[in-house]
Amino acid sequence: MSAVPADVPGSQAWFDRARGVTPGGVNSPVRAFAAVGGTPRFMASGAGAWLTDVDGNSYVDLVCSWGPMLLGHAHPEVIEAVTRAIARGTSYGTPTTTEVELAAEIVGRTPIDKVRLVSSGTEATMSAIRLARGFTGRDLVVKFAGCYHGHVDSLLASAGSGLATLGVSSTPGVPASAAAQTIVLPYNDRAAVEAAFAEHGDAIACLITEASPGNMGVVPPEPGFNAFLAEICHRHGALFVSDEVMTGFRVSRSGQWGTDGAVEGWTPDLMTFGKVMGGGFPAAAFGGRSDVMALLSPEGPVYQAGTLSGNPVATAAGLATLRLADESVYAQVDDVAATISKESSAALTEAGVPHVLQSNGNMFSIFFGDLPPVRDYATAQTQDVAGFKAFFHAMLDAGVYLPPSAYEAWFVSSAHDDRAVQQVLDALPAAATAAA
Ligand code: PLP
Repeated sequence: MSAVPADVPGSQAWFDRARGVTPGGVNSPVRAFAAVGGTPRFMASGAGAWLTDVDGNSYVDLVCSWGPMLLGHAHPEVIEAVTRAIARGTSYGTPTTTEVELAAEIVGRTPIDKVRLVSSGTEATMSAIRLARGFTGRDLVVKFAGCYHGHVDSLLASAGSGLATLGVSSTPGVPASAAAQTIVLPYNDRAAVEAAFAEHGDAIACLITEASPGNMGVVPPEPGFNAFLAEICHRHGALFVSDEVMTGFRVSRSGQWGTDGAVEGWTPDLMTFGKVMGGGFPAAAFGGRSDVMALLSPEGPVYQAGTLSGNPVATAAGLATLRLADESVYAQVDDVAATISKESSAALTEAGVPHVLQSNGNMFSIFFGDLPPVRDYATAQTQDVAGFKAFFHAMLDAGVYLPPSAYEAWFVSSAHDDRAVQQVLDALPAAATAAA
């Protein structure tokens, strides 16, 4: 087992310098280790399942850039595609062939008719909401507590991810008028959804939900919940927006919809994607029914645009990633996730640490504490964050990089080979004991 020294002077020096020029020293809050304490690691390189920090310490990466790196870091064929693209120039501000090919790949794998490329998941959900409002002529948006859809004003109420990590329910800077347009409901709660639609049905533009939440930890929908949401939206003339920024092309070739949509018969009106489809570059997308997408400029009046949208380097990375992500990749990723999640749970049980392991395909997370199955945000918030923190640091010291928050999913890649998995398994007994 490769141990990481307690002292990481390089990361500490960069963190000190970073805090002088950037709020909190980071460009996205969860990276600051605010919830777990200690020095955030400044990574210098990634290869396959491994990250190496500026002090030269190596870690098995169970964050995978928060989901995108399905094939692992610096996959040779993705690097080759990107290198070829860069040599032809980095941005033209014109249509390109690669963006059409990426769009076709996305449309071919999902139930959407048309797609528009953007640069972040936040942009994707923001634009989908605008389009839903433009299409329906209504203003209200329904979302679920603990679901995170990016840092869009109206979607920050009771969001998961970094807000859950930092323990804030919403953020200053969002106008009360924007928050007032958002109805926040408990996840997996059909009665609450029925009641909201009974009261506001004719004013609701859309309901947006993570297709299977991963931003309050992994909290899958109960069987039939997405189908129920699609049906109630249609009954009230609202659009059903399925946010697959995290699950899209990660839990299967076609995302969550591909694992249970076909079975349960739910089809979203609009979908959002990001993460895996950018292959580690800033690329995201929203798409849906052709009659809804037809409202988007320049075809229709709903404006949306982006200087770097469909960027040729980002789309080359995304296209290479999706084309490489065949069934064998998903089988390998699922297999590794099953091994690591089950062995983690077994080690905790062995050490007498109460916990709940929850999975959605190859995404999983562990809630520490004596909890019932976690089906909503309120239950997720009762987890033992101190237990997770002790476990996190023991794993980090043993060279395993977990998400530095109890509210995040753990991710693996097809590059997690036997050596990487073994390093995780070797670290578990001591980490479980530390959490006891
Ligand atoms: N939607 C979901 C489900 C996400 O998990 C995220 C990010 O984690 C977003 C939207 C926002 O994406 P981005 O961080 O690219 O803006």
